[in-house]
Amino acid sequence: YDLRNEDLKDLQELGQGNGGSVKKVEHIPTKTIMAKKIVLIDAKPSVRKQILRELHIMHDCHSPYIISFYGAFLSDPNICICMEFMDKGSLDGIYKKIGAIDIEVVSKVALAVLEGLTYLYDVHRIIHRDIKPSNILCNSEGQIKICDFGVSGELINSIADTFVGTSTYMSPERIQGAQYTVKSDVWSMGISLIELALGRFPFSESDPDDDDNFSDLEGTLSPESVLADKREKDKKKDRRKSKGHIVNEPAPRLTPEGRFPGEAEDFVDSCLFKDPDARKTPKDLLKHPWIDMARASKFDCKVWANTF
Ligand code: ADP
Ligand code: MG
Repeated sequence: YDLRNEDLKDLQELGQGNGGSVKKVEHIPTKTIMAKKIVLIDAKPSVRKQILRELHIMHDCHSPYIISFYGAFLSDPNICICMEFMDKGSLDGIYKKIGAIDIEVVSKVALAVLEGLTYLYDVHRIIHRDIKPSNILCNSEGQIKICDFGVSGELINSIADTFVGTSTYMSPERIQGAQYTVKSDVWSMGISLIELALGRFPFSESDPDDDDNFSDLEGTLSPESVLADKREKDKKKDRRKSKGHIVNEPAPRLTPEGRFPGEAEDFVDSCLFKDPDARKTPKDLLKHPWIDMARASKFDCKVWANTF
């Protein structure tokens, strides 16, 4: 494909994320349906060209567990990345629509993510860096694939410069500033699998002893200082939620005990060892009994994907 913005017709908004927005588009000359990700990059032309060069590696990424890449181009302040369109969307959208995901489907998700990560690392030495339910996509063929992996160092830097918000899928060692390794992706996958199986994010959204009550001050303080006080408290809360909590508290687990197969509980536990030396690599985890069960499972993801 020789992609140009003029040849792409917008069909539908698919969603918005930290880096930009994603649209369903049609490549008119070939009638191909694609997902077009628009990333606003505040960088010099030389950096933008560098990003484009780095994205080229994606042309060589071919795996049934990785979203296909059609091409990327610059479009004024944006970089557009065109990729395979997945008609059932991302797993966060799916569980928010249908509720907690059946554990047998979750095991197939684990299998697909591990195969995808192993392919990226073994063949291209790429670490994903952003495993979360919104980067795991599904289509009506019942295929499960990962997207948005960190191929371009320059793109990662440019997005990091504008990144605000919480980083709740990040491993304890990453929060403490250690280098990314494939094992950091394993942690993020473990958190994501619990989220899918429970139908909710596994870290509590608010701390019970966090007292947000400042109404007693409202009469005596100016609105500005009440607001400033609230902002300060929100900031503290964010920090605890996204950082201290993950480093200091025990890792979340697949609970309640006995609700899920023992193999699933054990698999998730081994993804969430807080010490990265104790945590396995994606390749090792492909040998886990729960993944053998996923391979042997007769569960039909195609039938499942067509129930919603
Ligand atoms: P995030 O991953 O943080 O949600 P993105 O900008 O990467 O933000 O994506 C926004 C949304 O667009 C995703 O949540 C997903 O639902 C949807 N999306 C992304 N890529 C595709 C794709 N290839 N096919 C279908 N939907 C997609
Ligand atoms: Mg994404």
